[in-house]
Amino acid sequence: MRPLRTTSPYAMVPVAEAIQTIIDLAAPLGIETVDALSAAGRTLAETVRSGESVPAGPRAAVDGYALRAGDQGERGLVSGEIAAGREQAIAVGPGQAVRIMTGGALPAGADAVVMVEDTEERDAVVTVRASLSPGAHIHATGQDIASGQVLLEPGATIGAAEIGVLATVGKTRVQVYRRPRVAVLATGDELVEPWETPPAGCIRDSNRYALLEAVRAAGAEPVWSGVARDTEDELATRFDEARHAADVVITSGGVSMGTRDLIKPLLQERGTIHFGRVNFKPGKPLTVATVDRTLVFGLPGYPVSSLVTFEVFVRPALLALQGAPQLFRPRVDVELEHELRPDAVRPEYARAIVRWQHDRLVARTTGAQGSSRLLSMLGANALLVLAPSEQPLPAGTQVSAMLTGPLL
Ligand code: AMP
Ligand code: MG
Repeated sequence: MRPLRTTSPYAMVPVAEAIQTIIDLAAPLGIETVDALSAAGRTLAETVRSGESVPAGPRAAVDGYALRAGDQGERGLVSGEIAAGREQAIAVGPGQAVRIMTGGALPAGADAVVMVEDTEERDAVVTVRASLSPGAHIHATGQDIASGQVLLEPGATIGAAEIGVLATVGKTRVQVYRRPRVAVLATGDELVEPWETPPAGCIRDSNRYALLEAVRAAGAEPVWSGVARDTEDELATRFDEARHAADVVITSGGVSMGTRDLIKPLLQERGTIHFGRVNFKPGKPLTVATVDRTLVFGLPGYPVSSLVTFEVFVRPALLALQGAPQLFRPRVDVELEHELRPDAVRPEYARAIVRWQHDRLVARTTGAQGSSRLLSMLGANALLVLAPSEQPLPAGTQVSAMLTGPLL
């Protein structure tokens, strides 16, 4: 094995160093104000405080009667009833009660609500069969949200609950981090579109479409995609189109040692290559560069390599660019369900299915792990992080797993 070099631009960098380099290059892009109610998935960039109390005034928490807790015996029924959404000039005097529905504003004079189930109403007289204390079944002013209370902090990911909270306090515009605009450029003389029949020697371009979806799933915005043949001129033209459209360019193919692998020379000529090889399987030739302000990921062409390097190296960067608080997948220890033969030399990220069995997490791989076998990605919810070893790992060995999807 060649000795590791750390100064050459094509040194084989360790995974952790590669990720750190990428994260250092991926500062949040900036802030924009958007419609809060359709901002799911965005990362909040401001502190949201409530400008009001919720509820704004005391309300009935149940259907029943509003009355005075201290009164005894039967209550005289006040005419009319108080329903949610209708303000009414009704007052409850001593010995009186008024019908009130859940969410109805507590009338003047009343200090409690009795549930309809604990009462009996006959001939405008209400009999109360429960003991009441002041405040019973009342939803007090500010009980849920106090005026001025901090509701959401910068870094919060907006989801269903956050949209609910924002709607509650009438906050319909929010500041969020901008989503990275991403261009995906597939390269290769052999590529045809998925709906075409490949001539001899050609294949369908799967990487571009898989990567576009991976970009979307990472919360980024695909803004451009295209294919370049393996010539300097066409590659340069397409690459420049891509980078002018986007904050991040992801290329697929053309980063290896072949005579038609033109990405590294192109990036070297136009910008700075931060690293050109990673001690990682699948996807050793992964290349990361900056060209002016554009972050460029040169992913390997093998379909599995391109998706796995996306998962491990590109996804955290896309999350960092959008200010996300959590860049990395959770790591858990899992027990191998069967023997596994790791790569002898490079750390390997094997596609696997992790599931909960009785009292522990167990994992099995998705079968042959060749970097062209896209089927190894299907159904996988984890990448097993396997240290290089000459020895097979027996069933029952504990290994670390990156959870890329929900547990089964
Ligand atoms: P390369 O990295 O360009 O040498 O490509 C490595 C392997 O991946 C070759 O077998 C290519 O045909 C294949 N490949 C490259 N680009 C794509 C793509 N966009 N979709 C599917 N396979 C590809
Ligand atoms: Mg190629």
